Amino acid sequence: MQVAETPRADAIARLRDQFHGQIVLPGDVDYDRARVVWNAIADRRPAIIARCTAVNDVISAVRFAREQRLMIAVRGGGHSVAGFSTCDGGMVIDLSGMRSVQVDPARRTARVAGGALLEQLDQATQEYGLACPVGVVGHTGVGGLTLGGGMGRLERKHGYTIDNLLSVELVTAGGAVRRVSGEDDPELFWGLRGAGANFGVATAFEFGLHPIGPAVTSGAVVFPIGRARDAAALYRDFARSGPDHVHLGLNFATGPAGRGGPHEMRGATVAITATHFGDQKDAERDLVRLRSELEPLADTFARTTYLAVQSQSDDEMAWGKRFYMKGAFLDELADTFVDRAADHVSRALGECSIGLWAQGGATATVAEDAMAFTGRGAAFWVGVEAFWLDPARDREHVDWGRAAMAALKPFTRAGQYVNDVVEQGEDVVRGIYGEAKYERLRALKRAHDPENVFRLNQNIRP
Ligand SMILES: Cc1cc2nc3c(=O)[nH]c(=O)nc-3n(C[C@H](O)[C@H](O)[C@H](O)COP(=O)(O)OP(=O)(O)OC[C@H]3O[C@@H](n4cnc5c(N)ncnc54)[C@H](O)[C@@H]3O)c2cc1C
Repeated sequence: MQVAETPRADAIARLRDQFHGQIVLPGDVDYDRARVVWNAIADRRPAIIARCTAVNDVISAVRFAREQRLMIAVRGGGHSVAGFSTCDGGMVIDLSGMRSVQVDPARRTARVAGGALLEQLDQATQEYGLACPVGVVGHTGVGGLTLGGGMGRLERKHGYTIDNLLSVELVTAGGAVRRVSGEDDPELFWGLRGAGANFGVATAFEFGLHPIGPAVTSGAVVFPIGRARDAAALYRDFARSGPDHVHLGLNFATGPAGRGGPHEMRGATVAITATHFGDQKDAERDLVRLRSELEPLADTFARTTYLAVQSQSDDEMAWGKRFYMKGAFLDELADTFVDRAADHVSRALGECSIGLWAQGGATATVAEDAMAFTGRGAAFWVGVEAFWLDPARDREHVDWGRAAMAALKPFTRAGQYVNDVVEQGEDVVRGIYGEAKYERLRALKRAHDPENVFRLNQNIRP
């Protein structure tokens, strides 16, 4: 498909006639606000932004873009680290006007519109003491997170978001609406769970829910970076033997908060973070070893609410910063890995971190080939992240991220979480899923989107 610069005025007028949302064009008052996405590096100028309010708007927008031979970017929450939800000169199908969440407490399910944010899903489900496993920053979109996988605090207890996905309402490349589930179309449902951005616009998701909270115990024990090996040994052991209802992170970080520590703390630190999804007595018992075995600089564990924990990083991860990351999976946490992570974070430029999450538990009870998502069999996920504000410092932050991951690479295993990957190209995407899954995804892509209408994503070439 060629990329047209500006759609014709008469065609736009026809689109407006059938469109219930807002069409935003360059020069409109709202244009500069409407084109902004989370990662400030992705500063693009689409030819048209279609702010949809319902499924019919999405259908009209897809058909219009195809007629006008416009590149399509689909925007859910706008958090794509690679900037996939915007484009230069094409059409953004913006779902931010489609954010409803309907909870059925009796069936323990939620129907969630394609542009909803995690905070909306969390808030609506917690009204009934329920939750769906999602990510850890409230302003992330349910759409992109789910179609990529959805890792977060509840994954050891209840699996990834995709493990709780019951069905997807999808507007296809042909502009049709269909429901995709394990019963309706198991093969496409397989592909949607990990490579979903390739196959259409998800206008609604249906999820299974679990009783969670509202009270949980959460916090961190923080150590000077020089004690990284000791902290990692404790973390490693706890991840292996601790209960599945505890989410566990190990964060090597610079910056004021040390990702888990008090805000007044400065310099590089290593923190073990945990969220315990049981009652207070169980939490005190289960976390005692983490909190007492080594002498931390700070211990921030406290009884709080699930909603408070789920929004605690929202400000730190606010819109407007520049961001680069690289992610990977590990089978084990070697001491040399720990030394290298500590070394790179100690030499970091500003707000940089290397964070691990322990997997296992519910994520490991599903077969690796059950879905397109690849990496659930690994013991740990690791993410190298850099934030900054000044565009003149892009190069040095990206270089730091690349160097840090290059040093950790020998300890990683095959496969990557698609939502972490900024680099692009067929080899990169083959590396995310592995050969066998990539070929299976190609067959699906040929069947459902042979012209590659949906290609602003980690793209499966038809
Ligand atoms: C601050 C931050 C925190 C994060 N935390 C986590 C975390 O805890 N766990 C985790 O697993 N991931 C996390 N991520 C990664 C996140 O899951 C991805 O960036 C995800 O793609 C964001 O989804 P979105 O809808 O906000 O993004 P968008 O930028 O809107 O979209 C991302 C991709 O998904 C596609 N897409 C989005 N919605 C739809 C839809 N409805 N239909 C079809 N395609 C769609 C877009 O076309 C694009 O290719 C985080 C990212 C950020 C920036």
